Amino acid sequence: MAKDNTGNMKLEQDTTFKFGCNKGAGCFTECCGDVIIFLSPYDIVRIKNRLGMPSYEFLEKYTILPIHKEMRFPIRILKMNDDAKKRCPFVTDDGCNIYDERPWPCRMYPVTEDADPSGATDKIYALLREDRCKGHDSANCQAYTLGQWLDNQGLREYEEFNALYAKVTDNSYFDAGGVLNEQKMHMFHTAIYDIDRFRMFVFETKFLKMYEVDEARQEKMKADDMELLRFGFDWLRFSLFGEDTVKPREEAVREFKQGADAAQEAKEKAGLPDDRGWHKKE
Ligand code: SF4
Ligand code: SF4
Repeated sequence: MAKDNTGNMKLEQDTTFKFGCNKGAGCFTECCGDVIIFLSPYDIVRIKNRLGMPSYEFLEKYTILPIHKEMRFPIRILKMNDDAKKRCPFVTDDGCNIYDERPWPCRMYPVTEDADPSGATDKIYALLREDRCKGHDSANCQAYTLGQWLDNQGLREYEEFNALYAKVTDNSYFDAGGVLNEQKMHMFHTAIYDIDRFRMFVFETKFLKMYEVDEARQEKMKADDMELLRFGFDWLRFSLFGEDTVKPREEAVREFKQGADAAQEAKEKAGLPDDRGWHKKE
């Protein structure tokens, strides 16, 4: 049996495993406490809409924003209750009360997904076995291949947005030693985690005077969080990494250059280096 580097059974596309999670397994909801659950931007949009609250309220009430000086970008983690078992705020005696919108890690469990350090495959999958989880030996176990598990748990719906997230978080900018300053960390957070605040930023400031966004897309972004999230990823890739994903308006580039030139003049007088963003790319 092939194992991954943590000793769990490695899952190839055609490996079959058995699992059955249900109330009778004897460990019902044991996995819904004292656990670190990273929330992707897509998770956040789905859950905050399920709860009917704006993103900034959801983030404040249900998540934490760990701060660590070595972090490349901000992350959001589900905040567990402050009780002895550190239970998830969404767990009840009947199970998860946001089940249809439960986060990606809750759907994947007990399957794990990691980057392949050798680069030979896209991802490495493995089957996690924990003592507290009786689902591997429960009476109603079913056999799954990896693909069947991803289908069964609704994980295919996450693929588009997980790929967009990876284009930002796994960007070569970071491998080359790029660091986001405080302002860019804030941009990152607003554009893809705090989507309702991002909508205000796009539609209630001079943002659309600075960037070309066609009217049909603007209308879609106003009404559809997922389209706004797609745009948030595009805007981050342009703003943080200089990718060609959003087009700034010519007059905005001109104004930017004039401002940057004036600032550079002052910097040159002070002996500081040239760091003009848009200007440098020409
Ligand atoms: S979100 Fe639902 S499935 Fe995930 S830990 Fe909380 S209660 Fe459990
Ligand atoms: S079987 Fe495993 S996944 Fe299901 S409730 Fe029990 S501990 Fe959680």
